[in-house]
Amino acid sequence: AKASGKNQYELYQEEMHQNESRRMLLEMKLRKAIDHNELYLVYQPIVDTKSNEIVSVEALARWKHKELGEISPSEFIQIAEETGLIIPISEWIIQKACEDLIYFQLNGFPKIRMAINVSAVHFNQVGFVKSMNDLFQKMNVSTHQIELELTESMIMPNAVETVNKLVKLKQLGIKLSIDDFGTGYSSLSYLNRFPLDTLKIDQSFIKGVSAYKDDSSIVEAIIMMAQRLHLKVVAEGVESKKQYDLLKKESCDLIQGYYITKPLPANKLLEFLQCWDGE
Ligand code: C2E
Ligand code: CA
Ligand code: CA
Ligand code: CA
Repeated sequence: AKASGKNQYELYQEEMHQNESRRMLLEMKLRKAIDHNELYLVYQPIVDTKSNEIVSVEALARWKHKELGEISPSEFIQIAEETGLIIPISEWIIQKACEDLIYFQLNGFPKIRMAINVSAVHFNQVGFVKSMNDLFQKMNVSTHQIELELTESMIMPNAVETVNKLVKLKQLGIKLSIDDFGTGYSSLSYLNRFPLDTLKIDQSFIKGVSAYKDDSSIVEAIIMMAQRLHLKVVAEGVESKKQYDLLKKESCDLIQGYYITKPLPANKLLEFLQCWDGE
């Protein structure tokens, strides 16, 4: 700071300016990302701890710009939400995920399910349920093989409308998961009110499993509660054998994380499924 001769305020302004211009740049580039084929999906398996089978894969969006390189989804999804670009991007993601689901089905995995992350902005649109159903019909995908990942914060406001949407999705045969469970809303009363199938325990709780006793007791408590509510539990961000073994012992239903594999492009994921199947 001294060397450049700038005071704190000037540095602050400079940083603000840089952040603002990166955001504007990304927004401009993101508008063209679909047409320029810069978006793609990777898939991460979710393993059933009882059968050791891969029962579903989660689709995760990626954006690679030719000059800017890889931009993380945490960064570009937020920009997409703020600019409304999330609607065409989400539709692109869902169609691509359906195409790849069919690719997995046709290549030996007819029953595998596809988990798709839903943005709050998309979910809150009027006609969300119908537009989703239309997309799945158009893509010729059975809704019974679709899981939607929602967050606590997005289903909490306007409870009546929200419940209606969730009930309709459920009636279509779609499975509903709560993503990042434990990080959002403080009340648990919604767990009974909403027709949910799965809780995905946030990675932050899994980090402590087998290292700090307190964190694993939170995980154990979530698993016990989920069992009482007839919800399945996914542990996310499982990175070690130690964590896997402990979670399995605590009868956690499903495991996802680098311990199984990092998210992979569709063709690599298919190879992974084929090797796993032979295990
Ligand atoms: P998320 O839905 O909670 O996704 C899980 C994130 O954890 C992914 O990061 C995944 O790559 C990462 N992960 C998986 N296993 C491990 C592990 O063992 N250790 C660690 N440290 N991380 C692991 P990613 O792909 O960077 O996505 C970040 C977030 O961006 C997602 O969090 C989700 O909220 C959002 N996102 C990604 N793709 C989409 C999408 O298609 N649509 C929407 N609306 N949001 C998306
Ligand atoms: Ca997710
Ligand atoms: Ca998550
Ligand atoms: Ca997350």
